[in-house]
Amino acid sequence: MKTTGKVTGIVSNLVTVEVNGPVSQNELCYITVGDTKLMAEVIKVNGKNAAVQVFESTRGLKNGNDVEFEEKMLEATLGPGLLSSSYDGLQNDLTTMTGVFLKRGEYTDPLNHEKLWDFTPIAKPGDKVIAADWLGEVKEGWLPHKIMVPFSFNGEYTVKSVAEAGQYNIDKTIAVLTDASGEEIEVNMYQKWPVKVAIKGYKEKPRPSRIMETGVRVIDTLNPIAEGGTGFIPGPFGCGKTVLQHAIAKQGDAEVIVMAACGERANEVVEIFTEFPELIDPHTGRHLMERTTIICNTSNMPVAAREASVYTAMTICEYYRAMGLKVLLLADSTSRWAQALREMSNRMEELPGADAFPVDLSAIISAFYARAGMVVLNNGQTGSVTFIGTVSPAGGNLKEPVTESTKKAARCFYALEQNRADQKRYPAVNPIDSYSKYLEYPEIREHLAEKVRPGWVEMVEKAKNIIRKGKDANDQINILGDDGVPMSYHELFWKSELVDFVILQQDAFDAIDSVTPMERQQYMLELVIDICDKEFTFEDYEQCRNYFKEIINTLRQMNYSEFKSEKFENYRQQLNTLLSNGN
Ligand code: ADP
Ligand code: MG
Repeated sequence: MKTTGKVTGIVSNLVTVEVNGPVSQNELCYITVGDTKLMAEVIKVNGKNAAVQVFESTRGLKNGNDVEFEEKMLEATLGPGLLSSSYDGLQNDLTTMTGVFLKRGEYTDPLNHEKLWDFTPIAKPGDKVIAADWLGEVKEGWLPHKIMVPFSFNGEYTVKSVAEAGQYNIDKTIAVLTDASGEEIEVNMYQKWPVKVAIKGYKEKPRPSRIMETGVRVIDTLNPIAEGGTGFIPGPFGCGKTVLQHAIAKQGDAEVIVMAACGERANEVVEIFTEFPELIDPHTGRHLMERTTIICNTSNMPVAAREASVYTAMTICEYYRAMGLKVLLLADSTSRWAQALREMSNRMEELPGADAFPVDLSAIISAFYARAGMVVLNNGQTGSVTFIGTVSPAGGNLKEPVTESTKKAARCFYALEQNRADQKRYPAVNPIDSYSKYLEYPEIREHLAEKVRPGWVEMVEKAKNIIRKGKDANDQINILGDDGVPMSYHELFWKSELVDFVILQQDAFDAIDSVTPMERQQYMLELVIDICDKEFTFEDYEQCRNYFKEIINTLRQMNYSEFKSEKFENYRQQLNTLLSNGN
C-alpha cells in the first residue's frame, strides 16, 4: 500500500501534506489537481506532516487535494539515446516539444522505446557479474555505449544468458542473470537511478593524475585542469563565462559532454538550443551535439525543477563514466542553482546563513563537486567526470557565499575580470588571482614533464612571475610617470605584455587561434620565455615600447596562422630578424 495524504497548506510551490503512513526525505509524490497530477518532492518530514516542493506551478491547488507517494526518489532514466537529447531538470525531452516549455502536469519519456540499436554482447553465460559490469554494447553515434548490470543490484550474479548480436529496442531483455538464491532477473537496455545519490559501481577513485587539454591557453598552459578534476569560472555578467565554457565544450579532450544550462533568462537558454546543434566537433568533424546532452532550465521554471537539474546532469555523467568514457560536465551558471536552494530554504523558513543562502550551502556545493572525478572501474579501465561550473556573483563581488563556497570545493579557479573584459583582453581570466591546485600534485607535475617537457611547470611559474612583476612595474609607472622610473621597469612591463598578448589572450571566434594544441602551446611559451630571458639595452622607454610592440604583433600573427605553415615560418623569420637587430 502506497502512502497517501491530503494537502493542508500551500505557499507558492511549497505544499504541506498530512500523510497516513511513512514517507521519506526526497521521496517523490503526485498531487492531483483536476485531471492533472503534479510531481513534487518531499523536503521535510515531521510526524504526520510532510512538506513537499512541487516541480510546477501550483495554480488552482486546494486544501484537501489528494497526494500519492511513490516510494522512490527523483530518478534519471539511463540508456542509449541520452546523447544528442535536450532535457529539462526532470528529464522531460524538450526536443519533442513545441518550444522549450511543457504543459503543466505533462511528463515525457526521456528515451525512445521504438528506436533499434545495434547490440553486441560482451558478457558470456556463466560469467560472475556485479553492479555496473558490462553485459553488452550498442553504438550511440560513434561512441560505444555499454549496457551494464543495473547500479542498484547488490552482490554477485551469474549470467544465465545474453542476447545475441542484433538490432533491438531498449525494452528488449538483453541478459538474464541469476542471483545467489537462484532467482532469475531480466535486464534490458535502460535503468533508473536517483539523481541525488552518486552512482558507485567502481573499484576506486584515485586522485586525478593527468590533465585534460582544452585548447585554451590560459587554462592548459597557465592553470591546467585535470581529467576528472573540478574548476569554476566566476565572473560578472558579460565577461565571457559562457564563451569560455562553450570553447571548453567544443575543444576539450572529452568523449561525452553534458551541458547543464541554468539560465537567468529564457533567451540565454534558447541560445544554447540554437547555437549548440550548429557547433562542429574539431576532433571528428561531426556535430558536437552527437556526443552532447543538454539539461536546461530558466529562472521562470519552478524552483525545485531548477534545483534538480544539476543532479540530473551529474547522474548522466556518472552513467557514461561507468562505461569507461571521459565525460565533461559544464554548468552555467551554478549561481542560479544556489539561488534555487535559497528560495527553497527561505520558504521553509529555515534559519538562513550568509546572504539568506541555506546554512549548509557550502556542504551542498562540496558534495556536488565531489561527485566528479576519475575512477578505476571493476575491470581495471578508467573513466572520468571533469566538472567546470560558472558562478555569476552579483556585481562581480567574489566575497559572496556562492563564490566562497565553490572556492572551497573546486580545485581550479578561473576568475574573469571586468577590467580585462573592458579592455577586450579575452578570455578575461585574471592571471594573478587564478590558480590550479593540480599544479601542486607531484603526479601531475610528473605527467606534465613527460607529456610536455621536463621543467615545464617551472617555466609556467616563470611566466606567472613575469606577469606579476610586470603588474608591479606598471603600478609604479602609473604613479611616477614614464620618466620617473628606471628603464628596467618599462622592460618588465613590456615583457609581461608580451606574455599577456601572446599567451593569455585568445580569440574564441578565430578558427585557428581559438584552439591551441599542447604542442603549439609549448612552442609559443618557449619562444616568449626565451625573449623574456634576454637582457635589453634601450635608449628610452619609447624605443622599448616600439620594439616590444613589433615583437608582440609578429607573435600574434603566428597565433593566427596555421602551425608551422609557410606563413607561420615567415613570421618566425621576421621575429628572428627583429630579435637580432638592434638589441
Ligand atoms: P557571460 O556569460 O559572462 O555573461 P559571455 O560569455 O556571453 O559573457 O560573453 C560576452 C561577450 O564577450 C561575448 O559575446 C563576446 O563578444 C565577448 N567574448 C568573451 N570571451 C571572448 C573570447 N575569448 N574571444 C572573443 N570575444 C569574447
Ligand atoms: Mg553567460
